[in-house]
Amino acid sequence: MRIDGRTTLYGLIGSPVAHSISPQLHNGYMKTHDVSGVYLAFDLQAEDLPAALSGFRTLQIGGLNVTSPHKERVIPLLDEVRGDAARLESVNTIKREGNRLIGFNTDTLGIKTLIASHGLSVENRTVALLGSGGAAKSALLALLQLGAGEVRVFSRTREKRDAMLGRFAGEPVRGLDLATFGEHSGEIDLLVNATPVGMGTLVDRTPVSVEGLKSTAAVVDLIYHPERTRLLIEASERGHVVANGLHMLVGQAVAAMGIWLDREVPLTDYLEFL
Ligand code: NAP
Repeated sequence: MRIDGRTTLYGLIGSPVAHSISPQLHNGYMKTHDVSGVYLAFDLQAEDLPAALSGFRTLQIGGLNVTSPHKERVIPLLDEVRGDAARLESVNTIKREGNRLIGFNTDTLGIKTLIASHGLSVENRTVALLGSGGAAKSALLALLQLGAGEVRVFSRTREKRDAMLGRFAGEPVRGLDLATFGEHSGEIDLLVNATPVGMGTLVDRTPVSVEGLKSTAAVVDLIYHPERTRLLIEASERGHVVANGLHMLVGQAVAAMGIWLDREVPLTDYLEFL
């Protein structure tokens, strides 16, 4: 990697960040494409965000990714928030333009990359989205932008679900209790899991049963570690097309680098660094 007096610093802020594969992806790309930049992960607590952003501004960093739990609270520290980030009030990418810090959201592009790269259909389809957290919010916007006929959002906590759906008034979206999924499963064309059920301490669990799904339904799990969750294993055994969240992760990274460098970055330029 070329490091000299003109090398630009990029990074990830969040907590925890040590497990992130973003440094591997972005440094791999920059090395291969002769971009003089270095990408590092910074574990930051909420109280340190203002000082960190101010320092990054002074040090003229090229760009930052923002991950949990700072995607919302970083917004007041920025000069401008654009596009999907403004709509969702959630920033996962910051670009420095002169002395200004601009917030973007590339998670929605990540979801679209995942869907496109697996040849899945969303337009006019009935989609079941499980969860109403940060990933679900991005997924919901992406699914609506792709022309979903209806998105049924299933989650446990009504208040959180209502708060999320409040942003999508007038859109073809319904909020439902997760426990009622079985009553709807036969009408679903695409099932998207945006809960952590299937990873970490919940690795042996599945958020819903796939038994009632139509044979043509596809199943997406935004989890990518493990590569195949119990949900995907069970769906695959029943013959459903399945996809994990890896291409979302790579898709949002590709889109972030495209924003920082102001160039088109092909997905394939990143896939080799997984
Ligand atoms: P989050 O903001 O904490 O939201 C989690 C959602 O899952 C909430 O709606 C929560 O329900 C629900 N949930 C949690 N535990 C549950 C359980 N035991 N049973 C049923 N529902 C449960 O998390 P997030 O950031 O959206 O992440 C969600 C998932 O997406 C994680 O698995 C994460 O790894 C994945 N993800 C993947 C990517 C990628 O690039 N592929 C990016 C971001 C996230 P309540 O509303 O009731 O609390």
